[in-house]
Amino acid sequence: MEQIPYKIYLQENEMPRAWYNLRADMKNKPAPLLHPGTHQPMTAADLAPVFCDELIAQELDDQTAYFPIPQEINDFYKMYRPSPLVRAYCLEKALDTPAKIYYKFEGNNTSGSHKLNSAIAQAYYAKKQGLKGVTTETGAGQWGTALSMACSYFGLDCKVYMVKVSYEQKPFRREVMRTYGADVTPSPSTKTEVGRRILAEHPGTTGSLGCAISEAVEVATGTPGYRYVLGSVLNQVLLHQSIIGLETEAALKKYGITPDVIIGCAGGGSNLGGLIAPFMRDKIKGKADYRIVAVEPASCPSFTRGKYAYDFCDTGKVCPLAKMYTLGSGFIPAPNHAGGLRYHGMSSTLSQLYDDGLLEAISVPQTEVFQAAERFARVEGILPAPESSHAIKVAIDEALRCKETGEAKTIVFGLTGTGYFDMVAYEKFHDGKMSDYIPTDEELERSLKNLPVVD
Ligand SMILES: *Cc1c(COP(=O)(O)O)cnc(C)c1O
Repeated sequence: MEQIPYKIYLQENEMPRAWYNLRADMKNKPAPLLHPGTHQPMTAADLAPVFCDELIAQELDDQTAYFPIPQEINDFYKMYRPSPLVRAYCLEKALDTPAKIYYKFEGNNTSGSHKLNSAIAQAYYAKKQGLKGVTTETGAGQWGTALSMACSYFGLDCKVYMVKVSYEQKPFRREVMRTYGADVTPSPSTKTEVGRRILAEHPGTTGSLGCAISEAVEVATGTPGYRYVLGSVLNQVLLHQSIIGLETEAALKKYGITPDVIIGCAGGGSNLGGLIAPFMRDKIKGKADYRIVAVEPASCPSFTRGKYAYDFCDTGKVCPLAKMYTLGSGFIPAPNHAGGLRYHGMSSTLSQLYDDGLLEAISVPQTEVFQAAERFARVEGILPAPESSHAIKVAIDEALRCKETGEAKTIVFGLTGTGYFDMVAYEKFHDGKMSDYIPTDEELERSLKNLPVVD
C-alpha cells in the first residue's frame, strides 16, 4: 500500500451524488415532532407556515435512504468541497502515539464551518419555492454567516436573530453577515412579542439560542413570503450534513483504512450526525463495529446529564415538541462559556441512537478543551474553533491511551471549523481568566421540572 498522503482529497467523479438519511436504516426511529398545543404528531400542513415545503418533506421522511443532491447545490459544493481528510502525522509525532489520527476539516470556506453544507441546501429550497426571504437564529455566529452567504448566492433576504452575548462579543461575525447582505438583530429584542416577554421576565438576560429561535419563528410566520430555517438539530440538517460522512467514507475506502473510533463534537448534533451517518449505517446493519463518540461541553451537558423526554425546542414554547436528550428549554448556559455548543437539546436522531447504546457521549470542561486546541494548533497549523476542539480533546486523550497500551488504533474526528472569530475566548484562556462553569444538580433539576407533560 502506498504511503497515505497528508491530505486525502476526492476527485470530482468520486464525490457523493446523494445525501444519506440514516433514519431509513434505524430500527428504532426517532420520535416524531409533536404539535405544541394538541401533542399530536406534526403534519406537513402544520409545518407549512414555518418551513419550506421540500424541507418539510425531508424532515418527515424516515423511509427514503438517499436523496439526490440537486445540480445547483452540487455546483455550489464544488466551490469548497471536497473538504480534505487530513492525516495528523504531526500531531501523532508530537504525542508519540502509535495511534493513526485523521480529521475531516470543514473550515475551508469563508463562513469557516460545516454549516454552509446545509445553509446552501435550505436557501436553494426556499428560492425554488419562490420565497422572498428566510429568518433564523445564530449563537456563536457560524450558522448566521453560512446562511448569509447562501442567501446572497440565491438572492434571498436573510434576517438573523443573534444571541445578544455573541452579538456584543463578536462584532466581526456580525459584520461578515452584513457584508453578505443579512439584517442582524441582537436577541432578545423588542421587535417581537416573544422577545418583549422574555425581556420582561428576565431583564438583562444575555440571551440564548432558545430565545432567538422563538423570535425568528415569530417573524417568519408573521411576514408574507418568509419561512424559518434552522442550522442544526433537525433531521433535514443531519441529512444535508451527511455529505461530511459520505466523503470521509469514500476517502478512507480509497486507501483501505478502517476506523476504530469516530469522534465529533455535539451541539445540536448536525456535524456529528452527518459525519457518522454511513458508519452508523454499517454498525446498525452489523457490517462493522465502530466506537462512535459524541463530545459535549460540561457546561451544557445534554447527553450526559439531560433527560430523554419531549421538550420544547425554544424558550418561547412556540415551536413543536421534540423527543430528545434535553436540559429543559429554560436552561440558559453560563455566558462565560465560549463555544457554540450551547443548545439545551440534541438532535432526536442522535438521542435515539444514544438511548439505544449505539453512540457514547463524554462531557469535557472548557479549559481542557482550549489546552487541546492550542496543542493541536501548534503542530497541525490550523487554528481550531472552540466547538471543534471538544473533539480534538477526546481524540488526543484516546491517542494518549493508545500510547500506554501500545494499540495502533485508527481515530477519525470531525474538525468542524476555524476559530478566527473566537480570539476573545482564546485571550481569556491565555490570560488564565477562563473558568470551567459546570451547572449544579439543583440547577438542572430546576430546569427539568418544567418539561411539558406528554403522554
Ligand atoms: C455550530 C457548530 C458546531 C455545533 O453544531 P452541531 O449542529 O452540533 O454540529 C460545531 N462546530 C462548529 C465550528 C460550529 O459552527
